[in-house]
Amino acid sequence: MPKITARKSSRRLRCVTSNVKTISGWCTIKFSIRATKASDAPTAVVSADIVILAAGTFGTNEILLRSKAAGLPLSDQLGYRFSGNGDVLGFGYNTRVNINMVGFGNRQPGSMEPVGPTITSVIDLREQPDLEQGMVIEEGGVAGAMATFVPSALSVAAQIVGKDTDSGLADLIKEKTRELDSLIRGPYHGAIKNTQVYLVMTHDDSGGRLTLENEQLRIAWPGAGKKPFVNDVNNKLLQATRPLGGTFVENPMWSQLQTHNMVSAHPLGGCVMAEDAAQGVTNHKGQVFSGTQGTGVYDGLYVNDGAIIPRSLGTNPHITICAVAERNMALLIQERNWQIDYSFQPVPQPIVIAQPSGPACSSRKRWKATSRRRSKMISNSPRSKVKPMARRFDSS
Ligand SMILES: Cc1cc2nc3c(=O)[nH]c(=O)nc-3n(C[C@H](O)[C@H](O)[C@H](O)COP(=O)(O)OP(=O)(O)OC[C@H]3O[C@@H](n4cnc5c(N)ncnc54)[C@H](O)[C@@H]3O)c2cc1C
Repeated sequence: MPKITARKSSRRLRCVTSNVKTISGWCTIKFSIRATKASDAPTAVVSADIVILAAGTFGTNEILLRSKAAGLPLSDQLGYRFSGNGDVLGFGYNTRVNINMVGFGNRQPGSMEPVGPTITSVIDLREQPDLEQGMVIEEGGVAGAMATFVPSALSVAAQIVGKDTDSGLADLIKEKTRELDSLIRGPYHGAIKNTQVYLVMTHDDSGGRLTLENEQLRIAWPGAGKKPFVNDVNNKLLQATRPLGGTFVENPMWSQLQTHNMVSAHPLGGCVMAEDAAQGVTNHKGQVFSGTQGTGVYDGLYVNDGAIIPRSLGTNPHITICAVAERNMALLIQERNWQIDYSFQPVPQPIVIAQPSGPACSSRKRWKATSRRRSKMISNSPRSKVKPMARRFDSS
């Protein structure tokens, strides 16, 4: 798959239908692949001993749902136990503090203050008697591309659903002045300059289901936004806004009008790992079960991304996904008696990028000398003798 992806990187691969045959004890999978943006693109068929699906939670579920529809026997649990990782979005609007949460986008920074922090710190509330109650609160930002409509959107949302955490006439005048400033001078001033985005990760019930409808992936999750955890999070965010003297605004998409829509940057599940095919789609190694019951797997078909994570993690998921993926690949290699060199090759001397300037040495001469030295060092380094990763596997 990586090779295919690399060759066709200009066109996003969309569909992989497959059939499985066993040749000399190896599982051979044929894939038909086409590109989303070129419906007339010729279909490619690839056979491989090992196929590792790592197209992300949505991509991998889509591929396997298509494969199942095309006749590949798979667990009936495919698409189930989808989780949004308990993600909840909120805003501490129009606080007393400068935060600069809006990115520059394509604007020239000029004299603008630097953009404020995003996911650099955490209020860690995970240590709870009940795991499900745990959460982390992190600070977020808004992409520069969305900057223009943020002042009016948040101003309206604050009027409708906002909860001001302080009071008093003097405070009200200051707040209204800042609000006006944002509406007139834009998102880098006034109320929006002083707005804190909250990103929260907690636990949902992994009750979503991914299906294909008219060739499109759909999430069915009745009542997802009405679960009690959302209110719990919103109460915590109201508390977090109080010391800043702001107005807490819950995610505007999560309103009554929007039928409590949820937002997640962390989709997980749908091909979850389990003891057997009656309970999940892959085994603990990410190997795909070859039917609806039992522990039989396709030897060479793996899922290795967020799709196998069986529940919300209650924190940023990337490192967990990577850790599981690394473990699965180590087991794959071990089972096939391959070798992989995990050792770090030390660099004999630090590579010098620039020399201290001297009176007799122009910067151009210095650069040339340093470049020559650097090339020499690199060619003498054991690293230069290390073969590329893909060639370091020795099949025995
Ligand atoms: C804006 C944003 C910020 C985030 N910040 C953080 C963070 O700070 N910390 C954290 O832990 N997590 C963060 N995440 C979440 C994190 O990025 C994901 O959880 C993680 O990348 C998921 O890994 P994955 O391997 O499952 O899928 P991905 O990383 O999404 O990899 C899937 C790959 O497959 C490709 N693909 C999809 N379909 C196909 C197809 N049909 N054919 C070929 N290729 C395909 C995709 O283009 C992609 O390259 C963030 C996510 C977003 C959107």
